[in-house]
Amino acid sequence: MNKKTENADDSISVRALRASGNLDYAKELAAIENSEKAADIRGGKRSTSLVQRLIYGPQPDCSEMIPVCTSEQSHRHRQEIVAAAKACLSQGQAFTADGKLSNELRSAVNEYRVYGYTIPEEFGGAGSGYRELAELEEDIAANGLGGLAVEISGQLTIGAGGLMAYGSDEQKSLFLPLLAEGQLMAFALTEVKVGVNAKKVSTYVELDEANDCWRLFSVGDSNKLYITSATHGGLLAVVARLGKDSRELGLFIVRLPESDRQKGEDADFGFSCKPSGTEAFQTNINSRLSFDNFPIPSSQRLEADGLEVLFYSLAMGRCMLSAMSAGFQRLYASEAINYARQRDGVGGKVIKHELPQLSIGIILGGALQSRSLCHLSLSQNEQHINLSGLRDITKSAAAGSLSESLACAERVIGGRSLNEESPVSATRATAHAFNIVEGESDLIILGMVREITGSFVGRYMAGLLKVLDDINLDKQGQPVTEDKRILSLGLTSFAKFPVRSGKAFLKLFVSKDLWLLLGWIIKHAIMDILSLPKRLLPAAWRPRYANLPASLKPYAKYAEARLRDQKWTYLGLNVFYQLTLTQAQIPLLIFGKRIESLTAMLAVVYAGASSTEDIQAVAALQAELLKQKVKNHRVLRKLPAIEKLRHRLQHVSGFVGENRCTLTNSLEPQAIPHAWSEL
Ligand SMILES: Cc1cc2nc3c(=O)[nH]c(=O)nc-3n(C[C@H](O)[C@H](O)[C@H](O)COP(=O)(O)OP(=O)(O)OC[C@H]3O[C@@H](n4cnc5c(N)ncnc54)[C@H](O)[C@@H]3O)c2cc1C
Repeated sequence: MNKKTENADDSISVRALRASGNLDYAKELAAIENSEKAADIRGGKRSTSLVQRLIYGPQPDCSEMIPVCTSEQSHRHRQEIVAAAKACLSQGQAFTADGKLSNELRSAVNEYRVYGYTIPEEFGGAGSGYRELAELEEDIAANGLGGLAVEISGQLTIGAGGLMAYGSDEQKSLFLPLLAEGQLMAFALTEVKVGVNAKKVSTYVELDEANDCWRLFSVGDSNKLYITSATHGGLLAVVARLGKDSRELGLFIVRLPESDRQKGEDADFGFSCKPSGTEAFQTNINSRLSFDNFPIPSSQRLEADGLEVLFYSLAMGRCMLSAMSAGFQRLYASEAINYARQRDGVGGKVIKHELPQLSIGIILGGALQSRSLCHLSLSQNEQHINLSGLRDITKSAAAGSLSESLACAERVIGGRSLNEESPVSATRATAHAFNIVEGESDLIILGMVREITGSFVGRYMAGLLKVLDDINLDKQGQPVTEDKRILSLGLTSFAKFPVRSGKAFLKLFVSKDLWLLLGWIIKHAIMDILSLPKRLLPAAWRPRYANLPASLKPYAKYAEARLRDQKWTYLGLNVFYQLTLTQAQIPLLIFGKRIESLTAMLAVVYAGASSTEDIQAVAALQAELLKQKVKNHRVLRKLPAIEKLRHRLQHVSGFVGENRCTLTNSLEPQAIPHAWSEL
């Protein structure tokens, strides 16, 4: 490690990775975090995020969590759009012969300017808000047209959303009316050899000054892959390096040719657009794109970092994914209820028995949870509150509950849920894809933990890290070899390296950062002790919960109290793992999932409170299910068990890594689709 590679703005996670010798990982994480921060600033999000305040205080006002209703007029408008789509479906016109969304369907809904739903009216759009769009997305997905919801969501979040925030006036007036008209726009980040490691994009552009354009190169394993809605003649926002060896990522709007082109035959560039072969989003277009010396007019570069635009747009993309998840789960619930009501099981109709009832309850609860988190995020967004943490929880919880509900629907409906024409079958692969797209769910939960704890760690834990950082450097300021690295101070380090550990301990003791941390601990311990009488008071007596129905009050109190406790859990994790925490993914994920369940509990409680009696019942059931999950996701108390699991896992991974696992090493794996070179 070279100290000069450090940046004062780097998060503690980045510095910890660097100090523990993971230089590449540290570099990638730093780049991603910087793009995320820049995207938040562009979105005008400066106030502290809700999740961070729920854990570290000050406690948010309850009114912040109560969803705001959309107008009756927008409700009627939505019903008309869904009716138009359903009419197309019932007339057999919604899909083409190869099962893709038809132009008839697109035209029918675009009578209501759906493809420009959130685009301002001055650019030909409907000028609606994202909350109205979320309700529309949910209803479209619930009515068996999930593919249409996916297409519109992409069009208006990573398509129009990025353009509206980062496009020049000229770019906006050129492209937004085309989008509102219904022309498809895709967003291309992923490549054959680049997936979650987004910063490693290898597609690049070169300036062609003679022709006042850029030339795009995305050949071989740099091809853009799995690009939803990318089609011949359509529009595409493509992320590319600004030069083959540059680290800077740019974003370009491209009009794709009407047909494939062979370089040298009829053009000085090559282009191809082929189906990617994915089973998910099967009614959508999904493509693999190749560009060779492809011209892009200079005016079509967005003056922004490609990743930053992606993160900016992803916030709304994740909310829409959650809205669609709510819709899919309503669809599953309706199918499961219909089947269970009619089908005779052992000893009477299936619906009469507790286990199918539980499955149906889980699906309904998942639908309400996805809807509630989506609208909570959107109303925070409208108030310009930072969505750090909440957008990730919203997405991860939506994808997780959808997978769970899919399994529940299959359990209730049995064999028929696997029939070709079953709506459950039609959405199965898409439901699974929701865990992968718009950020892999577990990885974004780890990112959420980093984000919401970032300012605490930066302020109060930096001293400890700095001391460890320093003892891992030799006299010349170079990193010590791996076998001499001390990643956490404790009995083991004292036994192995007594002199260096002793020095580190002394340094720590005289460091003002340690006293700052102790000050924080004392302050928060006193605050928690003072609030103890309030915590012991039953929820029904607390004025804070006066407006909640009796069945929901205890859950609001439980979720808020447990969220506040998480600051101690995270402190405990830091003390236990020290420099190794960033790589301790299992405990971090359990911790993140606990925060996810508690935040989801608050969202359903407040959404339920302002709803009808049936929704309140679903909210109370979901809150109870979440409470039981929270109890299973204890972190500090389970540390010995977690460490045993990690130890056992390392042992197995050793065999796997050396290809010595007899369960698999005699088997020949299939060739990986869209293979890449290892070079
Ligand atoms: C139906 C569909 C539509 C899509 N639409 C688009 C689109 O429109 N535009 C676009 O740009 N992309 C799109 N994608 C691509 C999608 O965003 C990627 O599939 C996703 O980013 C994951 O990349 P990958 O599949 O290459 O997985 P990989 O990058 O190969 O990762 C595989 C797995 O490795 C694990 N992993 C990797 N690194 C770590 C780590 N440090 N710690 C722990 N685990 C790790 C994760 O579990 C991850 O899921 C789409 C994909 C699908 C399936």
